[in-house]
Amino acid sequence: MEATAVARNLTDIRGELARAARAAGRQPEAVTLIAVSKTQAQERIEAALASGQRVFGENYVQEAQRHWARARERWADLELHLIGPLQTNKAKDAVALFDVIQTLDREKLAAALAAAEAKQGLRRRHFVQVNTGEEPQKGGIAPTEALAFAKRCREVHGLDVVGLMAIPPFDEPPAPHFALLRRLAEAAGLAGLSMGMSADYADAVRLGATHVRIGTAIFGERPAKQGA
Ligand SMILES: *Cc1c(COP(=O)(O)O)cnc(C)c1O
Repeated sequence: MEATAVARNLTDIRGELARAARAAGRQPEAVTLIAVSKTQAQERIEAALASGQRVFGENYVQEAQRHWARARERWADLELHLIGPLQTNKAKDAVALFDVIQTLDREKLAAALAAAEAKQGLRRRHFVQVNTGEEPQKGGIAPTEALAFAKRCREVHGLDVVGLMAIPPFDEPPAPHFALLRRLAEAAGLAGLSMGMSADYADAVRLGATHVRIGTAIFGERPAKQGA
């Protein structure tokens, strides 16, 4: 995909997000567009940066280091979100690179993140990932445990938990999952709702998303995954 196509896609998507927000009686500024750059070529990422995009999501810590370690120096206002599963032994690297970690889903990881933040003198923002479809192969805490877990992350581990995140099952309509995530976030007193991807971001915004994670609609199809 050419740089002009990336720029055009971003313009179109920003327009659609704003329309969906207004249609739901929300301010367009209440929705943050996270450009998901996993496995994408550096030129496409540069094109997004050149067109003003500053918030990016990555799934793999090592790949994100390749994409972003140097770009960080050029773009002071960059904001990086980790949206892929995080192994406890990579918590240190994740805290060093990412402003926001969206896949907090278990006690051991909460403890590792808290320790890494204390050691590095950093305070990161976190979303608790909820497995709304209760799929065994998927990360995320069960919906029935989400509230207590978010509370422990804040009160026991001292983490800055700002919201909830979910990836609905691939083969189900996403709206009920978005609605469930919103109810849980309201019950937990959390303002952040990370939900909605290329295929369903307008629905997600109508149902209250504050962060949408969009990859292929911006950058085109992903080449084969390069590994973690
Ligand atoms: C890859 C990915 C996305 C982006 O998906 P698209 O369908 O390409 O928009 C969003 N969220 C998560 C967690 C992902 O892994």
